[in-house]
Amino acid sequence: MGLLDGKTAIVFGVANHRSIAWGIAQALQREGARLALTYQGERVEKYVRELATQLSDPLILPCDVGDDAQIEALYRQVGESFGRLDAVVHSVAFAEREDLEGRFVDTSRQGFRTALEISAYSLVAVARGALPLMAEGGSVVTLTFAGSVRAYPSYNVMGVAKAALEAAVRYLASDLGPDGVRVNAISAGPINTLSARGISGFSTMHKAAGERAPLRRTTTQAEVGDAAVFLVSGLSRGITAETLYVDNGLNSVAV
Ligand code: NAD
Repeated sequence: MGLLDGKTAIVFGVANHRSIAWGIAQALQREGARLALTYQGERVEKYVRELATQLSDPLILPCDVGDDAQIEALYRQVGESFGRLDAVVHSVAFAEREDLEGRFVDTSRQGFRTALEISAYSLVAVARGALPLMAEGGSVVTLTFAGSVRAYPSYNVMGVAKAALEAAVRYLASDLGPDGVRVNAISAGPINTLSARGISGFSTMHKAAGERAPLRRTTTQAEVGDAAVFLVSGLSRGITAETLYVDNGLNSVAV
């Protein structure tokens, strides 16, 4: 028997086999959830469809979270196929490459807007879209990083976006709690993914994380996936508005 038997979940943010969203999708499926995966555009569709052959009877749908019409169309299709939704996993972020190197003070107005819109506002949009399908309650989980509370080299505007994201988690939790919908963030330690490699100096930070973390290893997708299972399942029914660190303790130690 799985922890999520009979539950349905939508996972945003699979781009390839390294994506944190893919680790989460695998863990949710293992525990019995029926899944919908979204892909950002034709460029990643092929990879997502290929990976999805490992899942049982998934829904695969397009969704650029910068486009309200796509979000609306997505939930219409999920509603038609699933009838209801128990969980939303939001594992999406984007900033222009030039804003993930050099000095934060040089961030352009447009670069700031893009990072905040795709990486923080999108959580609000996808949570709102899911509500009609969560009449019996539900769980929304997003992915954040400790760059929200401490300045990391080159993380720059993404740190500001993650701070906004974590605040959005608290405000959404406050709005949606009375309807039984919980909203939480997982703050993952550095993991070698496509997005992470776009951050200047990432491999140095990744290596240092493995050496300094109390558990002396770097975070894996599977560790994040299991934490997501907990936050989606009834085991976490008393938890909302929380940022749960899944980083082998890294955030607790001094540099
Ligand atoms: P990834 O590149 O595999 O995933 C990022 C996803 O965002 C991709 O699937 C991409 O298609 C999607 N995306 C970007 N713009 C989009 C848009 N407009 N519409 C729809 N989807 C869009 O990298 P990842 O590391 O798995 O990132 C997933 C989440 O985890 C992000 O929020 C990231 O900030 C967060 N995170 C990553 C790390 C890390 O070290 N990798 C650590 C903590 C938190």
